[in-house]
Order: sequence, then C-alpha cells, then structure tokens
Amino acid sequence: MADRVTVLVLGGGVGGVVAARSLRRKLPEHHRVVMVDRERDHLFAPSLLWLMTGKRTSRAISRPLDRLARKGIEVIGGEISQIDPDTRRVRVVEHSYGDDPPSRRLGVASRDFEADHLIVSLGVDLVPETIPGLAEAGHNFYTLAGAESLQRALTDFNGGPIVVLTATPAYKCPAAPYEAAMLLLDHCRRRGIGERTQIDLYAAEPGPMGVTGPEVSAQVRRMVEDQGITYHPEHQVTAVDASAKTITFANGVTATFDLLAYVPPHRAPQVIRDAGLVDESGWVPVDRHTLHTRFPEVYAIGDVTGIPLEMGKPLPKAGVFAERQAKAVAQNIVHNITGKGEPSAFDGYGACFIETGAGKAGFGAGDFYAEPTPQIKLHRPSRRRHMGKLLFEKNWFRRWL
Ligand SMILES: Cc1cc2nc3c(=O)[nH]c(=O)nc-3n(C[C@H](O)[C@H](O)[C@H](O)COP(=O)(O)OP(=O)(O)OC[C@H]3O[C@@H](n4cnc5c(N)ncnc54)[C@H](O)[C@@H]3O)c2cc1C
Repeated sequence: MADRVTVLVLGGGVGGVVAARSLRRKLPEHHRVVMVDRERDHLFAPSLLWLMTGKRTSRAISRPLDRLARKGIEVIGGEISQIDPDTRRVRVVEHSYGDDPPSRRLGVASRDFEADHLIVSLGVDLVPETIPGLAEAGHNFYTLAGAESLQRALTDFNGGPIVVLTATPAYKCPAAPYEAAMLLLDHCRRRGIGERTQIDLYAAEPGPMGVTGPEVSAQVRRMVEDQGITYHPEHQVTAVDASAKTITFANGVTATFDLLAYVPPHRAPQVIRDAGLVDESGWVPVDRHTLHTRFPEVYAIGDVTGIPLEMGKPLPKAGVFAERQAKAVAQNIVHNITGKGEPSAFDGYGACFIETGAGKAGFGAGDFYAEPTPQIKLHRPSRRRHMGKLLFEKNWFRRWL
C-alpha cells in the first residue's frame, strides 16, 4: 500500500466541492481528502437571481457541506486563518453549529493541517464598504443575505426607479448584472407595475461581457435595451447617499433610485494576500493549463486566480471555469499519487446561460483561450435554453452534493 497522502481542499464552493468529489471518486480509500469552509452550506450562486425575484428560497439553493462526509470526504467547518504555501501547512479556527438558530457558530478551536497536495479555491471577498454609502443604500445580490433583502424590498415595491449597478468593471459572472436587470423588469411586469417602473443599469465597464468580444457584447446590450432598460456604460460610482437615494459617478453624473441592486467590488481573500500568494494583479498567478502556483504541489482554481489572456484582459471569473479547473487539477493529483489515468489540462472552454425574463434564456459558449481573442458564440434566447438552466441547477446538486 502506498503511503497515506493528504489532499487538502480550501473552500467548499464550486471549485472546492468539484475538486473534493472528483478526488474522492478516483483516489484509493486510504488517502485522505479534507475540505475546509467557514460556511455550513454550499450555495448555488446562479440561483440567487431567481431568489431575489421570489422564485427560490435559500433552502432550495443550498445544501449542507457535511453531506460530503458520507462520500468519504473529511469536512472541516472553520475559518482558514493562515496558509504557508512553502510547507503547505494551514491553520483553521474550527467551529461547529448550534441548533437554535442553526447558523449560530459554537466551539472555537484552532487546528493545523499539513497537506501533501493543497488546492486553494477560496473565491473572492466582496467589499462594498470600499465605496462610501453603497452597503447602506442598496442590496448586494451577490450574497444570500443581499438577494433575500432585495426579495423583501420588492414585495413592498409599487413602481419607481430601480438602479442595477456594477461598482467596478471586473466581477465574477459578467452576465449576472445584465440578467438581474432583465429579471427585475420581468418581475415588475408580472406584478402589473411594469409601466410604473424604470430600470437603469449603470456599469463601470465599457460594455457587457467585454472578454467575449464586441459582437457578443453588442448582442447582450441589445437584449437589455430592447426590453426598455436604459444602459449607461463607463459610469464609475464614487459614493452613494442612502438617505437622499442618490448615486454619484466619477464623470459628474448623478442618479436617483427607489431600489438599488448592486455588484460590489471584489478582492482576493485576506488570508490569500497574507500568504504571499497574489501578484501585482491582486490575484493568484497560476499555470493556465495545470493551475499550479509557483509553490510545489500548491494549486489555485476558480475566482481567486488571475489568468491573463492574450487580448489583454484576464479570464473572467465564473463557476464554469472553477468546475473545469477543479476536474483537471483533481485528475493530475490522482495521476501523481497513483500513476493511473492520463494527465489533464484546463482548456479555457466556458459556457453560460443568460436569463432574459419571460421564461427565456440565451446561451453563450466558446474557447476563452483562443488567440488572439476568445471565440465565443451567443445563441438567442429561447424557452428551451431556460429549461436547460433549470436542469443545470437540478443536476448540480444531484451530481456534486
Ligand atoms: C449572482 C451570481 C450568479 C452567478 N451565475 C453564474 C453562472 O450562471 N455561471 C457561472 O459559471 N458562474 C456564475 N456565478 C459565479 C460563480 O458562482 C463563481 O465564479 C464560483 O462560485 C467560483 O467558485 P470558487 O470555488 O472559486 O469560489 P466560491 O464558489 O465563491 O467558493 C469559495 C468558498 O471559500 C470559502 N472561504 C473563503 N474564505 C474562507 C476562509 N478564510 N476560511 C474558510 N472558508 C473560506 C467561502 O465560504 C466559499 O464557500 C455567479 C455568481 C453570482 C454571485
């Protein structure tokens, strides 16, 4: 029997869960797969857009991570407070949960883990507080709490100006704010207040989904504008006044709102920055095919990575990439430990649905590693594609949790 090896997976989001499950499926039982996350539940983030318009509950779009214990994965609930990438030693401030309320964290204790192979999939920190007034004034629909507060605010909403805002030009899931604007409008129309509602989308970026190229970007812009949503690209928010309900932009423009739904600024988690894992881009540099960092047997996958593309922008942050990267890294670790199977490489392929409301979705897919520019095709919205997204959600939980 080969020596017992420990693979430590940091994060129980998309990349972490897929990596841990893929490893456990292929590694002989005596090797350990350990996964750490501060949250009790894995959240399926794409469905936050349905939650905010009342089509989902938090229960429906999350699953307890400790279900993975039944699959042979050691699940540790706790805050990762230190990572030493040279020694692959990780400190975790562990917690357990009370029953009343179930999210209450109990029993704090510190524990060190040593890994033979370390996979870092800690996502991003969302930092609305870096824009004065933003957190107080609006709903951060990139979090469960923010999507829920938006859902509650929409219940009392009887028409008026709604602003959807991106606070910085780069953020995970570049389609999401565009989908959010269309789903909010669809929701208001279904409630019979569409005529009294004006939706403005103020974006820090010059156009939707810039990495996909000018043609796809223009198509997405048309989807939004054809519905009657007013699009304002290149508007960088500088401050928000929660009591006056006004937004100030760097170009001197101001906007007013009754309801504000926003995508906050992102940055790499503090523990990652403290570990010296990031470069001047602010994200973790990796080999774009193997996801290996500059530290032996330390891999980073998903949103925490910064992968430059030849066209001058980084690979977008999206679950589809985290999933595919996780599978490639897991396969390579298994190959390294057991000598079995073939080495694998992440190929830069990505695909995503774009919900447009009225039970329809578009679908974009292609090769983001194509040079000199990504080759992406956007398929027009249809009911069938919306059904595809529903199926994707269902299969996500069936397959991974
Ligand atoms: C509204 C919305 C819609 C989206 N829609 C899509 C879509 O349709 N398609 C798509 O491809 N992508 C979509 N995404 C993006 C997708 O969710 C992310 O790109 C994906 O989750 C990234 O996976 P990850 O593993 O890198 O990070 P995450 O899934 O964010 O996981 C990171 C994990 O690390 C944990 N963690 C972080 N720091 C610590 C710490 N110090 N200690 C312990 N635990 C820690 C977190 O709790 C979290 O569970 C969407 C995102 C949002 C917000």
